[in-house]
Amino acid sequence: MAFDYDLFVIGGGSGGVRAARVAAQEAGAKVGLAEEDRMGGTCVIRGCVPKKLMVFASTYRNMFDDARAYGWELEDGDFHWPKFQKHMSSELDRLEQIYRNLLKDANVETYDARATLEDAHTVKLSTGETITAKHILIATGGRPQLPGIPNDDLGITSNDIFHLKELPNSMLIVGGGYIACEFAGIMNGLGTEVTQYYRGAQILRGFDDEARGMVADQMKERGVKLHTGTNVLEMEKRDGGIWVKSTTGQENIFDQVMFATGRTPNTDALGCEGAGVELGRRGEVIVDEYSQTKVPSIYAIGDVTNRVQLTPVAIREGMAFVETVFKGNPTKPDHELIPSAIFTQPEMGTVGLTEEEARDREPIEVYCTSFRPMQTAFAGRPDRVLMKLVVSQETRVVLGCHIVSDHAGEMIQLAGVAVKMGATKEQFDQTCAVHPTISEELVTMKTPMRTA
Ligand code: NDP
Repeated sequence: MAFDYDLFVIGGGSGGVRAARVAAQEAGAKVGLAEEDRMGGTCVIRGCVPKKLMVFASTYRNMFDDARAYGWELEDGDFHWPKFQKHMSSELDRLEQIYRNLLKDANVETYDARATLEDAHTVKLSTGETITAKHILIATGGRPQLPGIPNDDLGITSNDIFHLKELPNSMLIVGGGYIACEFAGIMNGLGTEVTQYYRGAQILRGFDDEARGMVADQMKERGVKLHTGTNVLEMEKRDGGIWVKSTTGQENIFDQVMFATGRTPNTDALGCEGAGVELGRRGEVIVDEYSQTKVPSIYAIGDVTNRVQLTPVAIREGMAFVETVFKGNPTKPDHELIPSAIFTQPEMGTVGLTEEEARDREPIEVYCTSFRPMQTAFAGRPDRVLMKLVVSQETRVVLGCHIVSDHAGEMIQLAGVAVKMGATKEQFDQTCAVHPTISEELVTMKTPMRTA
């Protein structure tokens, strides 16, 4: 049977665009791609990129004080949200255009339309067109999920925060994951009075206890009113704001409430069930190790599969899919030892096992140090950093590395190479320190702080 395309990709986010481009450019496939919203997906349009720009914007507040401590004579300035927002918006336009050009240069035919699955080889577009393809790749990503309490639609999500008309004076952020903690820091830095409710005992569940404790302490020190063991009980519009009663009985009125209570895969009305594609309990597309669904011609990558919700992982899943299907080289995406950064203030970078995970598996040594870094100590700021290595007693392999510090994301990218290679503690120690830096502590910690 002759198909319109060798590959049709549903979703123009990081994973879908990469798979489409590589299949066309490197494997000579005829590729089509449909995107119902803006090309670039969550990461470029409403996630990592604008978020990071907001992180940058929010960190300038401290720099005025720091600069004065270093001898600069300057006045505090005000932050002008509309000016920044306009600049951010034109930057996103530029990036979206780059994505479109990349696809065009690779001869991928794009459709600005919503696509739904009809059967194993057919998609239907919202324009009315029907398209056939030998292979279909679902890369539709995910979206923020509200908690499902009455009036939760009074709150906004991370999709909306980039489009606020004005910065709120006060804001409640609900959740304790990546998004909640990152935006608590951002909004605090931009001058909003931030309250954060997290239902559990400590934010950033699943990360190293000591590291997340350190992040939480410093978030509070920098002004975020963090309430753990606390959730929203009731909310309603009142006195020009949003009245919230917490599960601990506090009542407050906030200008804005933002829910960062997790994300859900974009499979609603996608036609998965009709086409025979199996969905999991959370609506995620069920795939095997090669990203193949129950329907042999249909694959899925990225957040829609709810494996690891990170842009670089979606990209690698897309590349592995192309290797497998178009290059005759069956390749499983590697989900082991993925380094990641949480752009909280201070940042956290992490790779490998937490101390808690590691000690449940085998006897370990923990090397850890916490100190005031030179740059901010000089400026009189109380910031502290944490550098931590979790080491196997038996093999000496560094099982986990956790950093809480400005630029921890940059540091963990490099430490991640060593950890991924299976470096031992002694190999870290053989590496000469770069002085004076924060990260030199990673190769100079001589004595374990504890064993477990
Ligand atoms: P997460 O799953 O990380 O966090 C969701 C948070 O909401 C958790 O603290 C959870 O609590 C809480 N929560 C869930 N349901 C409710 C509820 N009904 N009421 C109150 N609280 C609730 O999701 P995010 O939305 O923060 O991020 C989604 C994913 O996006 C992340 O997992 C990450 O992979 C990715 N991401 C990565 C970034 C990066 O790399 N820097 C940045 C942003 C996102 P509990 O812990 O108790 O379950």
